[in-house]
Amino acid sequence: MPERLTPDICVIGAGSGGLSVAAAAAAFGVPVVLIEKGKMGGECLNTGCVPSKSLIAAAKRARAIADAAAFGVATQPAEIDFAEVHRHVHGVIAAIAPNDSKERFNGLGVRVIGGAARFKDRNTVVVDATEIAARRFVVATGSSPELPPIAGLDRVPYLTNETVFDLTTRPEHLIVIGAGAIGLELAQAFRRLASEVTVLEAAEPLAREDKECAAIVLDALAREGIAIRSQVAVVRVEVAGAKVKVVLGDGGAAIEGSHLLIATGRKANTEGLALDAAGISCDRNGIVVNKGLKTSNRRVYAIGDVAGRGQFTHLANYHAGLVIRNALFRLPVKVNADLVPRVTFTDPELAHVGLTETEARSRGITIRVLRWPYHENDRAQSEGETAGHIKVVTDRRGKVLGATIVGAAAGELITTWTLAIDRGLNIRALAGMIVPYPTLAEIGKRAAITYFLPSVTSVWVRRIIPLLRRLG
Ligand SMILES: Cc1cc2nc3c(=O)[nH]c(=O)nc-3n(C[C@H](O)[C@H](O)[C@H](O)COP(=O)(O)OP(=O)(O)OC[C@H]3O[C@@H](n4cnc5c(N)ncnc54)[C@H](O)[C@@H]3O)c2cc1C
Repeated sequence: MPERLTPDICVIGAGSGGLSVAAAAAAFGVPVVLIEKGKMGGECLNTGCVPSKSLIAAAKRARAIADAAAFGVATQPAEIDFAEVHRHVHGVIAAIAPNDSKERFNGLGVRVIGGAARFKDRNTVVVDATEIAARRFVVATGSSPELPPIAGLDRVPYLTNETVFDLTTRPEHLIVIGAGAIGLELAQAFRRLASEVTVLEAAEPLAREDKECAAIVLDALAREGIAIRSQVAVVRVEVAGAKVKVVLGDGGAAIEGSHLLIATGRKANTEGLALDAAGISCDRNGIVVNKGLKTSNRRVYAIGDVAGRGQFTHLANYHAGLVIRNALFRLPVKVNADLVPRVTFTDPELAHVGLTETEARSRGITIRVLRWPYHENDRAQSEGETAGHIKVVTDRRGKVLGATIVGAAAGELITTWTLAIDRGLNIRALAGMIVPYPTLAEIGKRAAITYFLPSVTSVWVRRIIPLLRRLG
């Protein structure tokens, strides 16, 4: 006899988005069922953000040792014990896992069910012998690596983000196909951990980013010895003894490596959900949602990666917050994509929020572009982190529209600008802010002050300044 549950909310997928909805709903005392077919915590915890940032942290230590002589600190060359690196990465996952565990969520009052969910009809989801007829459903099933149509790929061993963090020995020569954020973050981490690394990209690396800022990252990667080849088509891959051989469409020499990593994009996890049975439409990006994240079935929301509007943990969390407001409190909600920051965690980091210069111009807005370089910042000099700059886009009146930061700690520094855009702040607020000295955050204030510089060159302002001085 199948068990039939009738919670207020049924969440499918216990990753970043699903866990946030379930925890918040339970906190408000709402009966909630959470279904997960794999590991609790989803991609971010198990095969995404957490292991990648932990690997990057290990790589950063290796790099710091290599750079220490410039600070007058003598060190031996770093020795990489890759099995220990693996242990570190999985130690971090294990340390965080209890927060996302079934036990914790049961304790919060969430009924967690293990298994693959599928819709039976517009109002019912089935997991094995359990039927869930909820008032609202939230699909938060995430995304998976998209495999490119490369001949021979099904006959060679290859890695994706789902397997690369299981390596316990260092790849001699890692070939990465795909130069987006994931491909480049991992390329740099492995290079710093002493692998030879080649990156192949069919279009342009970091294509979505401000070109001038992306160029600074790419230059840094090249100087660390990563071979990045853009505009190359991979036509075939094959096994060559113990190696993988990649044949390119440019007729040049094939590239042989010890390991192949595919990082060419993501596809929404919609398979097996029987979305048709529930009247839920999809397109090539994932589940189609309106601005309030409702699907074509008004009872069902889709959030996070599966909703096809970007792939970030903080985006999934943002979506979760909107769904809670709408589903529980019937408040009107609307996704604002301009408020979602993104960070590529290379070194230097590349962070962005709001409109890029190109986007603002293409919307026909008259803009001002303000900049400040890291090398003019005292703290950056002390730390030897002088590469990069901030670039701020405002409208004519100084309203902050966007910011891109390329340089050390850019991912931390972008938060001020995210708040500025969210609150509709004028650049005056940023220029007047007291920023502790010496911090990298001063670059933002200095860029903001440059907004007022043209007026200092104006003849009227130059005439009036001595007068003001005399008046005290
Ligand atoms: C290498 C890498 C690095 C990344 N780094 C960052 C970063 O630094 N910062 C950042 O913001 N983002 C990062 N991301 C992206 C981030 O991991 C995702 O955007 C985020 O995990 C998406 O959350 P989600 O809730 O949409 O899906 P997920 O976290 O993927 O969770 C979906 C869950 O649904 C489950 N599921 C799927 N189908 C079913 C079904 N039918 N029934 C039951 N359960 C199901 C899955 O098993 C999974 O656990 C990274 C991604 C990768 C691959």
